[in-house]
Amino acid sequence: MPEPETPLAERPWEDVARMLGVDEALEIILASVKPLAPVQVALLDAVGLVTAEMVVADQPIPPFTNSAMDGYAVRAIDTQGASVGQPAKLRVVGQLPAGYAPGVEIVSGTAARIMTGAPLPDGADAVVRFEETDERSSGATTARLNAKPCWVGVTRAARPLDNVRPPGEDVAAGEAVVRAGICLRPAHIGLLAAVNRIHVRVHPRPRVAILSTGDEVVDLGPSLRPGQVRNSNSYTLAAMTIRAGGVPLMLGIAGDRTDDLTEKLALARSADLIVTSGGVSLGDYDMVKDVLRRQGKIDIWQVRMKPGKPLAFGRVGSTPLLGLPGNPVAAAVSFEVFGIPALRRMLGCQNLEQPIIQATLVERIDNRGQRRHFVRARVSRASDGEWQVEPAGQQGAGVLSSLARANGLLVVPEELEVAEPGMRLPVRMLHWETGGIEEHPHQMT
Ligand code: AMP
Ligand code: MG
Repeated sequence: MPEPETPLAERPWEDVARMLGVDEALEIILASVKPLAPVQVALLDAVGLVTAEMVVADQPIPPFTNSAMDGYAVRAIDTQGASVGQPAKLRVVGQLPAGYAPGVEIVSGTAARIMTGAPLPDGADAVVRFEETDERSSGATTARLNAKPCWVGVTRAARPLDNVRPPGEDVAAGEAVVRAGICLRPAHIGLLAAVNRIHVRVHPRPRVAILSTGDEVVDLGPSLRPGQVRNSNSYTLAAMTIRAGGVPLMLGIAGDRTDDLTEKLALARSADLIVTSGGVSLGDYDMVKDVLRRQGKIDIWQVRMKPGKPLAFGRVGSTPLLGLPGNPVAAAVSFEVFGIPALRRMLGCQNLEQPIIQATLVERIDNRGQRRHFVRARVSRASDGEWQVEPAGQQGAGVLSSLARANGLLVVPEELEVAEPGMRLPVRMLHWETGGIEEHPHQMT
């Protein structure tokens, strides 16, 4: 007869924790978060956010035919056969700055001085640049133009539409300038401005409640007493949140006491995501897992990765919670691997991945234990122009300085016990957008 099953709460911790692969864990997390409900924001508050609407141009951009150059609006046919030796002499009938209706018509044998962006006058079909006229020598300057009549010689034949921008050259009326699901970069913001959008509907920035746990952890300010450590995790995680487009809510530190943690978690319920650090490993004083279990539906996993094996995920009320290990690098790497993609999904991003490159390993790396090893690494260009990668220093789960020195996480797969020099391996780039590659990496320490 099979033994009756021990109730969950009474089972030893190790039995309850599920072993999961990195991809499996990420899949579960991503399946339970979704894009946040759209809001209307001011145009410049939307930089880096993802559109939740399609925006269509109701007028063409540009709205009218205009000059692409400073020069003379002409009828191309009047300049046929023109050369430096035999310029086509045209009577100058006007001066057309940008911003005004032309008010002149170009008839055979005439031209108008025109500035970039000015509407092309009726009758003209091309613009010749100043450099292709004898304006300097003939002196058809603004001053002279006021004392009419004056003439200009065109020294090169123009073809119809030369230096002329048609209406809708950029965007046609009825065409979309952005569709839904676009992460707004500066050029999109410019296009939205071009169609007179003061506001735009986007998915908002996720509010991320950040809570550190541990009796030994002390926030910034007081000096440390024996046995205490400074709270760095809250700040690393907040910085990563800001960089990913979220808004951190700093909930401080909960001691290893049930009531303290319960109270702090209650404050976190209004956030879009709760991130805790510490207290999910197998230590004696780790209350987090017990409190979490009472607060909501939380799973505690052992993920096959290094650093950062223990991980909690679930909900407190309706708010998703990600429980990270306490070791500073384990917390940061777990947040990079699981938290940032979750944030990106909440932001409405369609691409949840960080940029990955393939690089040639310079140094041997051991990887026993069948875990995916995210090695803090430096990517640089080898003399042959290829990417090369080497560890950025000591790989202990508490060594944050080597993460600070790294520009990528080299991914050594679970099944690879030894990564040998010369192997090509994937590297997740960490700060590509700020010029992650330095040709001559400076050493921080
Ligand atoms: P834990 O996961 O709670 O067992 O913590 C693992 C290690 O991380 C311990 O050495 C802790 O002191 C350290 N640690 C936990 N929380 C923090 C934090 N917020 N800042 C810096 N170190 C921490
Ligand atoms: Mg702890």
